[in-house]
Amino acid sequence: MSTDLVCPSCGREDDLVGERQGELIVITCTACNLTWERDPSPRCPTCGRRDLRPVPQAVWGRSRGNQLSVVALRTINLCPDCDAEVLRRHLDSGSPVPPDENPAAGLK
Ligand SMILES: [Zn+2]
Ligand SMILES: [Zn+2]
Repeated sequence: MSTDLVCPSCGREDDLVGERQGELIVITCTACNLTWERDPSPRCPTCGRRDLRPVPQAVWGRSRGNQLSVVALRTINLCPDCDAEVLRRHLDSGSPVPPDENPAAGLK
């Protein structure tokens, strides 16, 4: 594995296992059991830039008691142009990017 890759959850880079699945590489962190996908050649769908920044994004789900909470992280690729605002907020806060949608709206 290339060493520019770290687990977005625990930050380790030595315990990652990658498995190719079609266009994507599915990566598993054996330290914390997080699994996420990585596109080996990401490209901005809007402007076509290729120097995208992979960042962790929270995934909402329902845990016990029907509470909405962050149940997982996935990796999304942000474009320095098109997603500049989201990227800046992520870098400022150091925390995962919030989900695209308000979780309370979509889940019933
Ligand atoms: Zn991890
Ligand atoms: Zn772009």
